[in-house]
Amino acid sequence: MSDLFLELSANPNARKLIKQLGLPLPLPQVLERTSSPWEARPLAGREIVVGGRPEPDPALVAGVAAAGATIGGRQRADGLVFDARTLQSPADLEAMFAFFQPQMRGLARNGRVLVVTRPHAQASSPTVAATRRAVEGFVRSVGKEVGRKGATANLIVVADGADERCLPVVRWLLSPRAAFISGQPIDVDARAAVDAGMRWSKPEEQPLAGRVVLLTGAARGIGAATARLLAGEGAHVVCLDRPEDEAPVSAVARQIGGSVLLQDISAPDAPEHIARTLRDEHGGVDVVVHNAGVTRDKTLAKMDPRRWSQAIDINLDAVLRITSALLGEGDGDGDGERVLRDGGRVICLSSVAGIAGNLGQTNYAASKAGIIGFVESLAPALASHGVTVNAIAPGFIETRMTAAIPAAIRTVGRRLSNLSQGGEPADIGQLVTFLASPGSAGVTGRVVRACGGAFIGA
Ligand code: NAD
Repeated sequence: MSDLFLELSANPNARKLIKQLGLPLPLPQVLERTSSPWEARPLAGREIVVGGRPEPDPALVAGVAAAGATIGGRQRADGLVFDARTLQSPADLEAMFAFFQPQMRGLARNGRVLVVTRPHAQASSPTVAATRRAVEGFVRSVGKEVGRKGATANLIVVADGADERCLPVVRWLLSPRAAFISGQPIDVDARAAVDAGMRWSKPEEQPLAGRVVLLTGAARGIGAATARLLAGEGAHVVCLDRPEDEAPVSAVARQIGGSVLLQDISAPDAPEHIARTLRDEHGGVDVVVHNAGVTRDKTLAKMDPRRWSQAIDINLDAVLRITSALLGEGDGDGDGERVLRDGGRVICLSSVAGIAGNLGQTNYAASKAGIIGFVESLAPALASHGVTVNAIAPGFIETRMTAAIPAAIRTVGRRLSNLSQGGEPADIGQLVTFLASPGSAGVTGRVVRACGGAFIGA
């Protein structure tokens, strides 16, 4: 789907003309992205300045350097990273101000601002908690300030004892793979057991080699883009979609050397059929991506029971029932065998509508908010198996789903983010791929927004 403002922005002559004529048109920055497999040194050629009070943790500096970045540079930086873990009082915030303020003008297009802090809920006093929470407000506002450059600002909130686990998140957020993540705190903790080590730190290996992924709704949109990225990292992707979508889902599976599973996920026997297929044909599953979803929009006053139940059944109830079957709790086989292997990943597609609500989407928002409750509750229960459970809340992504929005609302919807544009399906695919990887072991029970810092959704 074309975004006229983004197309104009990509054309240097058009940009010049609009500037000369003084037209008040919002020209978003075309975002730098990558679709190649994960590199050993994703930050090669980038200059990143790392600060802290009084100094950043050496492990953080070493982690950024190991990802290929040149540390230093004060004139023009591709990234500004500040370690706020030692801040204790409002007066300490001055150090963060003093680090960023002189460098803001020099931040490059598509640059990155990243702050690392501790959870305010674990603070030793209200003063420390207030200081930590202040950091979040700062980062969210910086995101709004740098968005017109195509740059992002994010926060990593690391629990005590999880510092090592934040390094893969740091390198991912600083890379072009996180182009559409902004104004977002990401919590990292040490709850999930880690046995096989974090393979992002052994870059010679493909992070998902040998892993079996179940991906629902793989025929198009976010699902199809995600299938390609997961396969690019070495995964065998079982591409599930409805029987009537056999042609497009088979085309995706063929392209990536994956398998096809034709199934309406809301059918009564779907959980049993899916669990049996994964067990018998693939020996189990490592990563489950609950991506299939529908909108059935109407104001509540005009909504018929069918629209209500379709959204709830497909977006929420099917996710719960299928996960339950893969955990061996399903009513199908009754043999209690867990098909989801240790060290596995459950990744569910929620939505910013599930966080903030949306006009005409009581059914959809209820289903997507339900997903958030589900991942928050399931994550601690599976942590001892090394399984992480997370939700992704996309904002405005250019797919068939958003193409169905009336044109005027669609045009405005795209501008309601820090980056003043919609995301691409692959932006969500990149986040799914990161959350599927061993390096994301510190992120569990969380909702990660991929919305460019959307105005709605907090
Ligand atoms: P899409 O309509 O392009 O693709 C959804 C896929 O799910 C389709 O291939 C469809 O056939 C499949 N599907 C639907 N019902 C199914 C069923 N009963 N059984 C099996 N497969 C079924 O949608 P998309 O935009 O790619 O969205 C993917 C996910 O992301 C959805 O869960 C959606 O709610 C979520 N999301 C999308 C956006 C956005 O802006 N596009 C925003 C927030 C959340």
